[in-house]
Amino acid sequence: MKLSKKSGFQDNCGIVGVWDVPEAAHITYLSLFALQHRGQEGAGIISSDHGRFTGHRGQGLVHSIFNKENIQVLRGERAIGHVRYSTAGGSISRNLQPLWAESSDGDIAIAHNGTLTNAVELRKRLESEGSVFQSYIDTEVILHLLAKTKGSPRERLQKALEQVKGAYSLLVMIRDNDHTRMFAVKDPYGFRPLALGRLGQGWVVASESCAFDLVDARYERELKAGEVLEFSRNDYESWQLPVQVPRKAACIFEWIYFSRPDSLVFSKSVYEMRKKMGEALSEIDKHEGLQADMVIGVPDSGIAAAIGYSHQSGLPFELGLIRNHYIGRSFIEPHQSVRDFTVKIKQNPLPENLKGKRVVVVDDSIVRGTTSKKINELLREAGAKEIHMRIAAPATISPCYYGIDTPQKSELIASKMSEKEIGKYIMADSLRYLPIKKIYEKLKVEERMCDACFTEDYPVPPESLSSL
Ligand code: AMP
Repeated sequence: MKLSKKSGFQDNCGIVGVWDVPEAAHITYLSLFALQHRGQEGAGIISSDHGRFTGHRGQGLVHSIFNKENIQVLRGERAIGHVRYSTAGGSISRNLQPLWAESSDGDIAIAHNGTLTNAVELRKRLESEGSVFQSYIDTEVILHLLAKTKGSPRERLQKALEQVKGAYSLLVMIRDNDHTRMFAVKDPYGFRPLALGRLGQGWVVASESCAFDLVDARYERELKAGEVLEFSRNDYESWQLPVQVPRKAACIFEWIYFSRPDSLVFSKSVYEMRKKMGEALSEIDKHEGLQADMVIGVPDSGIAAAIGYSHQSGLPFELGLIRNHYIGRSFIEPHQSVRDFTVKIKQNPLPENLKGKRVVVVDDSIVRGTTSKKINELLREAGAKEIHMRIAAPATISPCYYGIDTPQKSELIASKMSEKEIGKYIMADSLRYLPIKKIYEKLKVEERMCDACFTEDYPVPPESLSSL
């Protein structure tokens, strides 16, 4: 199978690591449950009990994979876990994480969020040197590099990570001479989030702080770009990866769409960031003299920005759409086609609130344009008089190569149509995106983030991406 950008090397994922906490696997399970939005295709946990690794992985949602019996088997006070989202071709059980290998120097387990941009080259090299791969995921490259390298666990990790490029937030458990260590790592660009929490006498590391809340862990801090936390015995040591990169590149889309609003991500409240983006949209509209009666958000991801818009503009915030949360991956479409079925099954309008109203509709992003078009049709049918679509992000013009699943450029509506044309296509009376400059200003972002999906300014140069 050829590994390409659109086949196996794509993940939006969530990771959790637990260190020195009784029933670590159970704590990991609960934390993964809180991170379910970061991946619904599969999940796994590997625990360590006095150096003995045990694991369980499966396809589906966290609650359907784990039960009392299989969690009880995962003994010990240390564990790492992973929730996986993958696109077509990647959803097979051997691609599930955490990955686990037995090497002559001890067991290694690894959970990864992000995408390595030079994984194809590395895999080819490793295969030519005799490595046999068991999955189609980029993460396995790190596992082989670790297994092949000699030295202390820290030296092995350093040498392995010096060779990989791209986005990686990692949790690595290594057993060496009956002594287990856990490493929490953020790549030198700092693409994907990773935070540290305190739980009793132990520690929890997770992609988002909402994972701490459920298990009563206390948020300590976000890891720095290029930082490694090395957990050993009953404490941890922090050190930096010896890799220099020209800039930092925390993913701005984590705030816009991907993370949960009740999380702290990159040290900031996601909810506050989204609200500010809504305020910024309203400031522009006020300046331009937009007249409207009410604001609604597209549930769930547009709600926080819609509240911000309402506070800033003084327009009432209303519910205009109700979302059904119980939609599985596959539902059976009726033979007799129901118009707009795929959106209707998710979102239902409230005609009582919409009838005769000039409505500002706030959403987080437009990807292909399908959702906005259908939602606007539903809102009009429900009686909305005017629809002013407001997107709390710039236009998505280019794919992500660092861990967010986006379609190819040719499928992104904003890569082929102007703002005006998109407005017409989605049947809005007006459409406005939020300029990237305004986001940096409003959110008081001091350090440049990764905004490549909006600007095509890729922090890891496109030359390295051409191999994908
Ligand atoms: P579309 O119909 O393709 O324009 O999809 C737009 C909707 O998809 C928006 O309402 C977003 O909330 C959501 N969305 C944006 N980015 C992603 C992503 N990477 N994965 C899944 N959904 C997304």
